[in-house]
Amino acid sequence: MFTIKGKTCDWELVIGLETHIQILSNSKVFSGASADYNPSISPNTHVSMIDAGMPGMLPVLNKFCVEQVIKMGLGLNAEISRTSRFARKQYFYPDLPQGYQISQPADEAPIVGHGWIEIMGDDGKPKKIFIERAHLEQDAGKLKHDVHPTKSFADYNRTGVGLLEIVTYLDTKNPENNSYITSPDEAERYLREIREIARALGVSRANMEEGSMRADVNVSVRPVGSSEFRTRTETKNMVSFKFIKTAIEYEARRQIEIYENGGTVSQDTMHFNQGEGTTSVARSKEDALDYRYFPDPDLLPVIISDEQIERIRSTMPELPSQTRARYTAEFGLSEYDAARLTETTDISRWFDAAVMGNTKRAKSVANWMISELFAHPENYDILNEKSGIVDGMRIITPSDLAELVDMISENAVNGKQAKEIFIKMLDGESGTPREIADKFGMKQMTDTGAIEKIIDDVISANPSQVEQYKSGKLGLLGFFVGNVMKATGGTANPAVVNEILRNKLA
Ligand code: ADP
Ligand code: MG
Repeated sequence: MFTIKGKTCDWELVIGLETHIQILSNSKVFSGASADYNPSISPNTHVSMIDAGMPGMLPVLNKFCVEQVIKMGLGLNAEISRTSRFARKQYFYPDLPQGYQISQPADEAPIVGHGWIEIMGDDGKPKKIFIERAHLEQDAGKLKHDVHPTKSFADYNRTGVGLLEIVTYLDTKNPENNSYITSPDEAERYLREIREIARALGVSRANMEEGSMRADVNVSVRPVGSSEFRTRTETKNMVSFKFIKTAIEYEARRQIEIYENGGTVSQDTMHFNQGEGTTSVARSKEDALDYRYFPDPDLLPVIISDEQIERIRSTMPELPSQTRARYTAEFGLSEYDAARLTETTDISRWFDAAVMGNTKRAKSVANWMISELFAHPENYDILNEKSGIVDGMRIITPSDLAELVDMISENAVNGKQAKEIFIKMLDGESGTPREIADKFGMKQMTDTGAIEKIIDDVISANPSQVEQYKSGKLGLLGFFVGNVMKATGGTANPAVVNEILRNKLA
């Protein structure tokens, strides 16, 4: 449920995302020009006659791009159309020399049809988000308005790079079917899941910062329990998780306010103002563009065979949802922990590297990662987006954590000592956890005779507490444990101390 100023309100959010991911391929989707448009490359060097929109040039469909789209479609648990078509979406803008974008019309089968992905819902439980379709289209070029005071420049290196647009589904015939995104957090988790599926499959870098993943955000609100959807607005071309969340929140509040003041929301295209974190109307439905879609006469239909689909399916790696299922089934992790550990493929790889198939280690490794390592991303190589070793910084590796966890389970150190070793590693201490333990003389006291002796001393030094404990104040056990641990310099095994104490005080 949506909250305003910390209070839940009577409105709920309906969110639809159109996510563009750029297809990772050597050449563009309809020409042989390189698909590399890195800013370091001179403008307009990767442009073929086709991309430049020269009259009479014929586009040729890149088969590799189609395979990438099929792969992604399978990753989205979607139906793959056996026959699909391309259409021209007409618009005149200098970033697209052809004067139209080759795309796939929504009303004819695009390559990828109905599908779904699973995310963690706001209630912490798995939630299915339905996908309506995903279609293959061309990217546009880049206009540069900030290089010269009076001139604008166009760089067509990106023109014609393959894009896959993935559209979430809204079941308008059954508005109670809630397999769609209903909060800013779910929107972020959905986009992250799309990103990880695309990366795991090698279909796209899906990186918002570099623009290889972008989203159009559709938002409407409706009274809780309502049985129809209301008018939505669309904020286009968003390239940051944070801004997307801010835009959704702002837009939802704006619409709620309009309704609460008796007004109506109009179906506008919104502009997101980064500085203020607000949205404002960019253009209204009245002057919405008429794209005059029509079938592209230069391109044949795409025919996909069952064999091709099965061949691609057989090469698919483990996807995040399958990894989560493995973590809950094989390692007994909670849904929540499994979701946290599969937020990125790098995290799950790190986790797998630390567990190394040792099921007994899994739960502790998960706990340490989620509660300690996630709090120190700078020391945790894979969470450091920039990766690599920052000057003098100790990077904690999967084998470091595996060793630490093993030391605890072997009773070589207790939990408190393990934490100290961990902190020393964060502080840049070199060596493995065992070497660090040796160096600082950290060892768990396992000699029960010696522990017993200390316990006896603590008991005889505190007769009145013993009296109270025996008369039923059992909470005092912690007081005795604390004193014994102090007397052993924190080196005793707390479980052993507890047990001996309980017996002696009984
Ligand atoms: P268009 O192509 O005009 O943008 P679509 O019908 O393809 O429109 O929808 C785009 C996205 O907007 C989809 O993800 C869809 O689920 C979503 N959407 C449609 N209606 C609503 C609504 N009332 N509220 C929120 N999202 C919506
Ligand atoms: Mg749209």
